[in-house]
Amino acid sequence: MEIIVGKNAGFCYGVQRAVDEAINEAKRGKVYCLGEIVHNQNVIENLEEKGINFINNIEEAKGNTVIRAHGVPKEVYEKAKDRNINLIDLTCPSVLKIQQMVEEYSKKGYFIIIVGKSNHPEIIGIKSRAINNYVIVESKEDIPELLEKIKENKNILLISQTTHSSKKFDKIADFLKQNLKNDINLEIKKTICPSTEIRQKETEDLAKEVEMMIIIGDKRSSNTNKLYEISCNYCKNVIFISDESELDLSKIKDITKIGIMAGASTPKEDILKVKEKLEIRS
Ligand code: SF4
Repeated sequence: MEIIVGKNAGFCYGVQRAVDEAINEAKRGKVYCLGEIVHNQNVIENLEEKGINFINNIEEAKGNTVIRAHGVPKEVYEKAKDRNINLIDLTCPSVLKIQQMVEEYSKKGYFIIIVGKSNHPEIIGIKSRAINNYVIVESKEDIPELLEKIKENKNILLISQTTHSSKKFDKIADFLKQNLKNDINLEIKKTICPSTEIRQKETEDLAKEVEMMIIIGDKRSSNTNKLYEISCNYCKNVIFISDESELDLSKIKDITKIGIMAGASTPKEDILKVKEKLEIRS
């Protein structure tokens, strides 16, 4: 059996940086982390063993506190300052850039269309920077019912969650270009992270080439779910597992070529363990 692991499978730069820095902080003393550092239970358990205390809100922090790569709402910085909490800000530079952009355009009176999942931590952080009106949409299908509200604005900024589907963003942008009059100034900033786009493209190419795709990652990970969706579009056999323990080898009987991809929150070790399990079987 041929097993092809995507070159871009696993932790992205922003997540790797946040995890490494959090571990370094834990070596120096007690450290809190506001929210799960990544949507991956195996990683969380591993970091808890290394002494990192995960908390759900800043009120629970009693000392050095890590801000994860997704970023946090603006008020968290104010609350931390009031409570004398030292923040170790590991918001990914690409997310910081979007937060700053939204704040800047909002101050100039722009209406912001945020493409992404409304309950995703990155989006919660981004929307807190929108002073004026904003809407959050996931796909082109969400736009028609919001169109009248959107049309009330003369200046509009369209931005995206860093891990959203590139194709979905393009469809939204095209729909707006076609449906907004020329006197409305629509600024399109495709803020999807390059590493996300590269990973999605590689997933598509791999899914076209193999008989089966295995997607590894936590089911709550938005970007991993996207990889699953993409794979299903191009491959008939796709399975989505958290780690090697969920890999049912009976499903790969008669398969001669398998592709493996993993989201930005999946550690390399989890990918290797799945590959090893397949290799032993083949
Ligand atoms: S996906 Fe991109 S923007 Fe998001 S944390 Fe990773 S490197 Fe940063």
